[in-house]
Amino acid sequence: MSMDDVELARYGLRTFKVDPDNMALRSMAISGLHWQGGVARAKCLKDDPLLQGYRFKGNPPKKHVSPHIECSCGIYGSLYLDNLINQYSGYTQQLVCVIAAEGTTIIGSKGFRTECGRIVAFWSQYKTIATVVQHVAPKAEYITNLNNMLSKYGCPMESPPELRPTGPSGGPAAGQPGGPDWWREGEKYAE
Ligand SMILES: [Zn+2]
Repeated sequence: MSMDDVELARYGLRTFKVDPDNMALRSMAISGLHWQGGVARAKCLKDDPLLQGYRFKGNPPKKHVSPHIECSCGIYGSLYLDNLINQYSGYTQQLVCVIAAEGTTIIGSKGFRTECGRIVAFWSQYKTIATVVQHVAPKAEYITNLNNMLSKYGCPMESPPELRPTGPSGGPAAGQPGGPDWWREGEKYAE
């Protein structure tokens, strides 16, 4: 693998729930404030009693550093914009952030799970939202043209055709490319 491959794989897309009252960004999946300063570190919640049976389908060791290949924990980044839109269309229309993956990173077919994430750039058409992101992540670059941001960080708009959700089920089945367990497909570690 060349250095270029590593660098391309290290940027991913996310959106957030924007909380202007508290000038905060909240994760779509997990409650609490984890992105203050524009950075977050993953912690496995598999043993959190409130989350038993939720999203954790593997059988990882009881205590482990996040992300773990047998678990589904970690900070998620999408490699393609359409994949993010499919998951969170309303939020993605308002805010798209580029995060840099740092530390242990597991790269799947549509995205990665990483140990640490840092917001490096963002796009939004809304001044209120931009103000919150700039407050939370003052070092992040505000890019007002979405296409420019995607090309600058090497995050394509469209995923490869075989990963796109098509058909009445709204997406490929589990075990198929791009299915619900996409984070296990072709996973590889990067440091
Ligand atoms: Zn875990």
